[in-house]
Amino acid sequence: MDLNSIINSLLPSWTSVAMLLSFFTYLGIAGSILPGRNIPGVTLSDGTRLHYRCNGLLLLLLLVLLLGTGAWIDLVPPTAIADRGLELLSTTFMFSVFVTLTLYVTGRQSRKQSSSLKPHVTGSLIHDWWFGIQLNPQFTGIDLKFFFVRAGMMGWLLINLSILAKCIQEGILSISMIFYQLFSFLYILDYFFHEEYMTSTWDIIAERLGFMLVFGDLVWIPFTFSIQGWWLLSHRVELTAAAVIANCLVFLIGYFVFRGANKQKHDFKKNPKALIWGRPPKVIGGKLLASGYWGIARHCNYLGDLLVALSFSLPCGLSSPIPYFYPIYLLILLIWRERRDEARCAEKYKEVWAEYRKLVPWRILPYVY
Ligand code: NDP
Repeated sequence: MDLNSIINSLLPSWTSVAMLLSFFTYLGIAGSILPGRNIPGVTLSDGTRLHYRCNGLLLLLLLVLLLGTGAWIDLVPPTAIADRGLELLSTTFMFSVFVTLTLYVTGRQSRKQSSSLKPHVTGSLIHDWWFGIQLNPQFTGIDLKFFFVRAGMMGWLLINLSILAKCIQEGILSISMIFYQLFSFLYILDYFFHEEYMTSTWDIIAERLGFMLVFGDLVWIPFTFSIQGWWLLSHRVELTAAAVIANCLVFLIGYFVFRGANKQKHDFKKNPKALIWGRPPKVIGGKLLASGYWGIARHCNYLGDLLVALSFSLPCGLSSPIPYFYPIYLLILLIWRERRDEARCAEKYKEVWAEYRKLVPWRILPYVY
């Protein structure tokens, strides 16, 4: 591809706008209508709690069914997303800018004083637009932060499925592509299966909704996490049996650590007496869990996530660093995030956190970091 054709394929078209808006409309309407568990969020500083309807799995399955049927009866080309990747990328980027400028303006004008809607204005346009002004802004009763992260994770799967369809159509389906698709599919499915766990994550409870989060959810997650799939469309990799086994092990170990650690914390927050690995939990100051994965490193969940991310790239072999973009990015992000979370927890839990640090000295990787 020369520079001119790259620029041309980056230009948004009405088709890409329609595809994006149809996707958001589906998520908005189906998300409000379809049944799902109504999960209370964490208690905010003013004592209120938001409620989240966790029906993402149903939404996803229905969407895949609808698109699959559409493809079957020749109504929707299954390769539509893969054929318009760059165009959709730029359209989504512009949409993120538009939405966050709107959030900036409405946030500044808001007079609401509840913890979720109170405007936080520093006066710096760039800062306030980037980090956001309100914690949980809403649109027609829909919590936008929860909506965008859901859209990003589903978008990632839709991109992958479209890439898969393109591979099959062009007769270039490889073992590498099958493994990338399988691991990322299981990870995304797992995310929606445990969607309620999202309600207590840092992004939902602590970050305001600005460009950083909206761009991260809508552009970064779907378009860069799928980089391995895009890469495999034009590169063939031969994997040995040993490489395949090692790859599966990295995924499985990573998945169990990631899911296990997040689940233990979630269960502990709901019931501080819940058994951890069949034993009563070790608790510090009545507040912090110091057994199970949380007794091995203070962020074992990050370690698991990093291994899973690596398992998405290993099917691409070692000939190019491009497919490793996601695990490398995640490593940098999680190291930074761990530092910020550490500072937040030290401030919030004071001497209880200091005691936890003494008992569990490792941040992410036991005996190393
Ligand atoms: P964590 O799940 O790591 O939660 C951090 C919070 O948990 C702390 O602020 C504190 O909050 C509480 N906490 C910390 N230690 C303990 C403990 N020992 N006992 C009890 N509570 C504790 O937050 P994240 O939202 O950062 O991550 C969630 C998952 O999302 C991770 O697995 C991460 O890898 C993944 N993630 C993935 C990204 C991606 O791009 N793929 C990006 C970001 C995250 P409190 O004040 O409530 O006690």
